[in-house]
Amino acid sequence: MKHYSAFAVAREALRYHTGWERAWRSPQPKKRYDAIIVGAGGHGLATAYYLGRNYGIQNVAVIEKGWLGGGNTGRNTTIIRSNYLQDPSAALYERARSLYEDLSQELNYNIMFSPRGVIMLAQTQHEIRGYQRTAHANALQGVKTEWIGPQRVKELVPIINLDGPRYPVLGGLWQERGGTARHDAVAWGYARACSAMGMDIIQQCEVTGVRSDNGRVVGIDTTKGAIDCDKLGIVVAGHSGQLAEMAGFRLPLEAVALQALVSEPIKPCMDVVVMANTVHGYMSQSDKGEMVIGGGTDGFNNYTQRGSFHHIEETVRALVETFPMISRLKMLRQWGGIVDMTGDRSPILSKTPLGNCFINCGWGTGGFKAIPGSGWGMAQLMATGHSPLTEAFTLDRFKEGRFIDESVAAGVAH
Ligand SMILES: Cc1cc2nc3c(=O)[nH]c(=O)nc-3n(C[C@H](O)[C@H](O)[C@H](O)COP(=O)(O)OP(=O)(O)OC[C@H]3O[C@@H](n4cnc5c(N)ncnc54)[C@H](O)[C@@H]3O)c2cc1C
Repeated sequence: MKHYSAFAVAREALRYHTGWERAWRSPQPKKRYDAIIVGAGGHGLATAYYLGRNYGIQNVAVIEKGWLGGGNTGRNTTIIRSNYLQDPSAALYERARSLYEDLSQELNYNIMFSPRGVIMLAQTQHEIRGYQRTAHANALQGVKTEWIGPQRVKELVPIINLDGPRYPVLGGLWQERGGTARHDAVAWGYARACSAMGMDIIQQCEVTGVRSDNGRVVGIDTTKGAIDCDKLGIVVAGHSGQLAEMAGFRLPLEAVALQALVSEPIKPCMDVVVMANTVHGYMSQSDKGEMVIGGGTDGFNNYTQRGSFHHIEETVRALVETFPMISRLKMLRQWGGIVDMTGDRSPILSKTPLGNCFINCGWGTGGFKAIPGSGWGMAQLMATGHSPLTEAFTLDRFKEGRFIDESVAAGVAH
């Protein structure tokens, strides 16, 4: 793999950019791999990357039915934060956030990490208590967050209206090193690094069956033929239930569409991310100037990856009291992704009833921020059978009642 650098850009500029090589190869599948990861979203690619980087397992294929990053990874609103309530979540999300800090250097690919700060607004007395509690928990966990009053919110977000008639802004939970990154670039950066290690990323190849023998996976069936493997990682977000069914077990998950929209590009007006969870909406401004606006999930289970009119109306109506300026914006486009929701709003990173089959899913509305930490932990779990990062997030917790309740931190927020 050629190293990207200022020197390489200058050299290519002089020869009309004819010397760039493809960022990743597009090979045909081999007959057998040491490990197969199903799903080339951020979590699947990061898992493959850390399998190679941390454990030297490089005879790996990542199998993707569409194009890499084309699932939720390329459809999300890119918020990165780690201000969760429970200890196992804070550890996992903070590991991810801290890996994001130098992921561009690590991958030699600009993922445009922008730690511009994230505020979660408190607009009810209940939220004040909830966020102050989270700030105290974060202090004990070593996650740097802070409770701030309304005047500080106004300093950080001049366009905000503090005195809404229904939901005035009463303060907020502020994470200074939270922010955003370019979602496609995260997938592309990991994909390029995986390909450079000799891993095969096989796109346009749907997994249609999981073959097992004596309680262990022996391979998968795909639209490009059967492939054998020693270990299987299922990392397919909203399609996890379908893959689990192929492997012969069930998951405590619901698949629902989550929607977002962007406005026309406007001049810079907001340089932090603001989440308003009571009214159910959040907003940031992209580098192109668009206001990136996220809403809620559909109220019914479905597999659609489209937006719908009633969501635009609901989301904009929710935010307009707090951000009156958005009433004058034209909306550019909207879209949806299929997210996989668990009952406790925490992910599943776990062994499965099949000995050498592992699952990484249940990130629901907020898994983009977790990609590097999830990949790190999942790779450790697959390579060694155990990871301190993932040990609380097993499938068994739903049988044993060991829920990791993050419905306040993750129920609305992303
Ligand atoms: C509108 C929206 C906004 C969001 N905002 C945020 C946010 O601001 N911050 C945040 O942290 N998170 C956010 N999320 C959540 C985040 O996007 C997801 O949690 C995360 O991207 C999940 O990544 P993944 O790699 O697990 O899944 P995906 O990126 O969905 O990848 C799974 C892949 O598996 C493939 N696949 C499925 N079935 C098969 C099969 N049978 N064979 C082969 N391949 C298959 C799919 O094609 C897909 O590419 C948002 C999600 C949406 C939809």
